[in-house]
Amino acid sequence: MENIINEIMNKNIGDIKVSPSLSHYTTYKVGGTARLVVYPKNASCLVTLMEIINKYDVKYFILGNGSNVLFSDDLYDGIIIKLDKFDEIDFQDNIVRVGAGYSLIRLSLECAKRGLAGLEFASGIPGTVGGAVFMNAGAYNSDMKSVVKDVTVLTPDLKIITLANSEMKFNYRESFLQHHKGYICLGATLKLGFGERSALEEIIKERKLARKRTQPLEYPSAGSVFRNPKGLYAGKLIEDMNMKGYQVGGAMISTKHANFIINVGSATASDIKEIIDYVKKQAKITYNINLRVEQRLINWGDFDEKEKE
Ligand SMILES: Cc1cc2nc3c(=O)[nH]c(=O)nc-3n(C[C@H](O)[C@H](O)[C@H](O)COP(=O)(O)OP(=O)(O)OC[C@H]3O[C@@H](n4cnc5c(N)ncnc54)[C@H](O)[C@@H]3O)c2cc1C
Repeated sequence: MENIINEIMNKNIGDIKVSPSLSHYTTYKVGGTARLVVYPKNASCLVTLMEIINKYDVKYFILGNGSNVLFSDDLYDGIIIKLDKFDEIDFQDNIVRVGAGYSLIRLSLECAKRGLAGLEFASGIPGTVGGAVFMNAGAYNSDMKSVVKDVTVLTPDLKIITLANSEMKFNYRESFLQHHKGYICLGATLKLGFGERSALEEIIKERKLARKRTQPLEYPSAGSVFRNPKGLYAGKLIEDMNMKGYQVGGAMISTKHANFIINVGSATASDIKEIIDYVKKQAKITYNINLRVEQRLINWGDFDEKEKE
């Protein structure tokens, strides 16, 4: 790793952090140490970084705000790439060009302020634009698919291309990026509608209150753990199994919202994973349903990145 760090520094790619705890980078506030975190300054620095990564054949992970990931407690023996510097934004009427590192909540508030409608659903989703595009984040019967015009990506062979909405293959919490390893979202163009600022801000305010009422926002979590099976709600299924309040170590199924696992103290990633596995097992026994995890499980060996289904 020393050679890699030297190259990254010599090539002036961006800030780095050596051996940080991933608990500082995830909203669950758990996870082991990573070898290195790099913050490339721009797209060309990212390309250079990827060349170094390819040359040394070291593993890497693109991390947004860490609000939908569960890293294991083990050492992540690779490089975490953070696109925080990709935070440019440009408004042309109802067309918004925004960098992958831009906060989704901030974007939603900024658009409402300008009388641009369509992103109210995103005002309580604590991710980045890149993470939201990757996950096709959504709420209130809307999602990124409804607002994205196109997405700029870095391809595995390090070319920058633009993928149209239809090419992004958006589906419920799914996108092209999840199924094509090595594609990195650099930014997106959104096409929004027009609305009245006060009405849009009112919707956002009401939804904020509703989230506070129904979600355990006072504890670290990563939002909904399981995808909703077709026509059903994962939270309701878990609640009906009387699993609210079920605890392993410092992790607990929220008593407010059964599809949230919260860190009530000093949870480990293993505590959270144990609850996930237990819920899945019980759902299979009780309903004969294979619950699918929405969150990305990273550095869990067999379960790396995407849970096997
Ligand atoms: C309190 C709370 C409420 C939530 N509510 C919702 C909700 O209502 N709806 C919803 O959909 N989600 C919700 N979430 C989950 C989460 O906020 C979203 O999935 C969000 O889009 C994740 O963005 P992120 O930047 O944090 O991504 P991360 O968690 O950092 O990463 C998620 C995945 O995206 C990939 N990724 C991130 N950036 C890029 C990039 N630039 N290029 C390629 N891949 C990338 C990562 O590699 C990873 O696989 C909630 C989470 C919390 C904590």
